[in-house]
Amino acid sequence: MGWFTRKRKDAEQPETKEEVFIQCPACKAHIYKAEWEKNLEVCSHCNHHERMTCWERIDLLIDRGTFREINRRVTASDPLKFADAKGTYGEKIKETRQKTGLNESVVTGRGRINGIRVVLAVMDFRFFGGSLASGTGEKIYQAAAYALKHRQPFIIVCASGGARMQEGIVSLMQMPKTCAAIARLQQARIPYFSIMTDPTTGGVSASYAMVGDIHIAEPKALIGFAGRRVIEETIKQKLPDDFQTAEYLMEHGFVDLIVPRKEMKDTLHKLLKYCVAA
Ligand SMILES: [Zn+2]
Repeated sequence: MGWFTRKRKDAEQPETKEEVFIQCPACKAHIYKAEWEKNLEVCSHCNHHERMTCWERIDLLIDRGTFREINRRVTASDPLKFADAKGTYGEKIKETRQKTGLNESVVTGRGRINGIRVVLAVMDFRFFGGSLASGTGEKIYQAAAYALKHRQPFIIVCASGGARMQEGIVSLMQMPKTCAAIARLQQARIPYFSIMTDPTTGGVSASYAMVGDIHIAEPKALIGFAGRRVIEETIKQKLPDDFQTAEYLMEHGFVDLIVPRKEMKDTLHKLLKYCVAA
């Protein structure tokens, strides 16, 4: 259900503390649920931006009633027939599809941002940690092809732990595949914006997240390739506290803009106006 239209399930029941308050996962402050929702799931104490589902994100960015999903039927596949001690990947796909109502870790579609037509791909961390797999790559590839065909700007909202290990090399192959589709857009001078939300890591940060014409990040988002511990152990050095944050990456030239959630849609609209008019 859309996040703006979400209602309490049973208004008759007495409210418990958990129903009235939300605890911020970052600073642990208790915040009124109504205030948390009004603030778009951003903590008013520490500015923590909570992860959103793809549908919440689409509600936030796309004009109401204009979103049309494309390639909805592309779904996760199991090319390696992968299984581990916890069970088969095939079973896990079924379970995750049921739990999330999604077919893959990305939803793609077309819609309008304050009236401007765009093609959008939004990743969802609930689906295998937003990992990049064959279905994800195919949906992004197809969405980019759609943007090329219709000469509409393309936007990807990233939220991913990286490539999906259950699909091995097939998953890694999605990195060049998606980048090739985006390169075609760039050759045709069609804008592509990458929005990095918490987290944007691994194979996603090493592919389409970082080849945008404009790189936008949400405040404090974790953005990086390998994890902090792996790097520290490899280079035998302590990394700065703000390493792999949106702010650190902006300081070092990988991110162009850090945009608070409340201003994201209007910022995109401003940028689109420059590009579309050009
Ligand atoms: Zn907080």
